[in-house]
Amino acid sequence: MSARTPVLIVGGGPVGLALAGELGWRGVDCTLIEKTDGTIEQPKMDLVGIRTMEFCRRWGILEWVRDAPYPLDYPQDYIYLTGLNGYELGREPFPGRGFEPCPAESPQKRERVPQDMFDPILRRFAERTPHATLRYNCELVTFSETPDGARAELRDTTSGKTETIAADYLVGTDGGASTVREKLGIGMSGTPALTYTTNVIFRCKNFSKLHDKGLGYRFIFIGPEGVWLTIVAVDGADRFRMSIVGTPQKINHSDDDIRAALKRAMGHDFDYEILSVMRWVRRELVADRYGTDRVFIAGDAAHLMSPTGGFGMNTGIGDAVDLGWKLEATVKGWGGPELLRSYDSERRPIGLRNVAEASRNLRRMLSTRERLPGPEIFAPGARNDAARKEYGDWFAAIMRHEWFANGVMLGYRYDGSPIVWADGTPAPPDESHPYVQTARPGARAPHVWLGDGRSTLDLYGRGFVLLRLGQRPPSSTSIEQAAQQRGVPLTSIAIDDAKVLAAYERKLLLVRPDGHVAWRANQEPADASVLIDVIRGQGNQIQQQKLGSKS
Ligand SMILES: Cc1cc2nc3c(=O)[nH]c(=O)nc-3n(C[C@H](O)[C@H](O)[C@H](O)COP(=O)(O)OP(=O)(O)OC[C@H]3O[C@@H](n4cnc5c(N)ncnc54)[C@H](O)[C@@H]3O)c2cc1C
Repeated sequence: MSARTPVLIVGGGPVGLALAGELGWRGVDCTLIEKTDGTIEQPKMDLVGIRTMEFCRRWGILEWVRDAPYPLDYPQDYIYLTGLNGYELGREPFPGRGFEPCPAESPQKRERVPQDMFDPILRRFAERTPHATLRYNCELVTFSETPDGARAELRDTTSGKTETIAADYLVGTDGGASTVREKLGIGMSGTPALTYTTNVIFRCKNFSKLHDKGLGYRFIFIGPEGVWLTIVAVDGADRFRMSIVGTPQKINHSDDDIRAALKRAMGHDFDYEILSVMRWVRRELVADRYGTDRVFIAGDAAHLMSPTGGFGMNTGIGDAVDLGWKLEATVKGWGGPELLRSYDSERRPIGLRNVAEASRNLRRMLSTRERLPGPEIFAPGARNDAARKEYGDWFAAIMRHEWFANGVMLGYRYDGSPIVWADGTPAPPDESHPYVQTARPGARAPHVWLGDGRSTLDLYGRGFVLLRLGQRPPSSTSIEQAAQQRGVPLTSIAIDDAKVLAAYERKLLLVRPDGHVAWRANQEPADASVLIDVIRGQGNQIQQQKLGSKS
């Protein structure tokens, strides 16, 4: 007899680990398989976005992120330059991660914690719960979908032994070359090759002593051909990642190319140790579907984007959080059939949105290839300083779109979702900056500090939260009863706080377990059972319209 698990997660990158942790935190048994031993050869992501940090707050793992070994005081400046020993054209200064303030719209801020520090945190989070079983050196060979789930064939990558496991649900978080996506026959649409890029992690103990640009997070090199190279401080110590940005034309940078690029960046030869080389293709692709009834894809398996903006993993963790409570509701029996289907209708538009923004950021960086710097930018002499400043100011203004993007990270909304009850208000603009909080149904419920020092966000996460706001909040009995009758976990919270009422704009709101607003009004609906059915995925738009015409 083969083993069975409620949820099988294929792939133990950051998104799979976050999903295993989220499910475990919700008390849902799951098994994660990862074909490697978990060692990260080359860390990719290093920006943990502000929304992901809000999830870390919810999961109670903020200290682990804070205590990650990326130094708290390492300056996060972005520096635009002709060479490390050449001219500085501009700079966007940022303090070390320990000194960056939280913005008004969140109790958290972004963090600089690279993948080889962040994956172990997520792994520890998942392993903390007795509900998540993590199996490394275990590969998905193939699977078939069945009416009640999936049957997967697994292979131990050390012994070669195979086994079969059955699952009620299977989630492919198996990265860009996803076996799960391929097996489902799901294509990806978009642009398959934006650039052919080579990433090189190198160690240099005295890097900052070899030039006069000081400590910074990202150095963006501009040559006569425009931006051609970036170097980032991967661990805020002695490891750096050089990216030869490349072009859409296929190229395989040789070892000589890599050494020449390092020499050109520094302006002379220097001592370094190359730790790893990754040749990769920057893509702009989104899966045509995010799954079927029983099998889903999330993270890079579902969307591949340029790293410009640091949206890739953060979008994937958003997928995991959306899927997490829906799987819980379905496994525990209170979620209706529309609930898991809404994963596609809610998250795919966000994938398309973020992939497009990442490509816009790439185009911003590469706009230097259209407005090429003139020879005066590279020529010595104080009289060329004005030209350098003018070019640097132009580039700095363009790049601010990428550096200030809380709107992208926090402002994604599930407008038009079948499990969100629209309130008829017009959609606010979707700007990357500034980010303006809204409690319109579908949006992330706004952060407001409460009198007791908590954030409103600290109220959300487990079941639904029914907020009753103002001095004399309206009755909510029928909503509470309808939820109770259907086994929907719902906590009613009364808050008499003018700031909260101002931010939420209505006196009654239903906030979902993922922290998005499902419904809001100033009074109970005519038939609360229809409302509860819609938001738990049991209802449909026809019921919604019916209720809309009554109320
Ligand atoms: C240079 C660079 C910088 C980046 N910077 C950022 C950033 O700052 N912030 C950000 O949010 N994103 C960033 N990204 C993107 C980010 O790294 C990815 O979006 C993220 O790693 C995706 O996570 P994932 O878990 O979906 O997939 P992956 O990280 O690809 O993990 C997939 C896992 O599945 C496993 N697997 C595959 N097939 C199988 C199988 N058949 N059986 C079992 N296991 C399997 C793999 O071994 C792997 O461990 C960056 C990307 C690059 C290239």
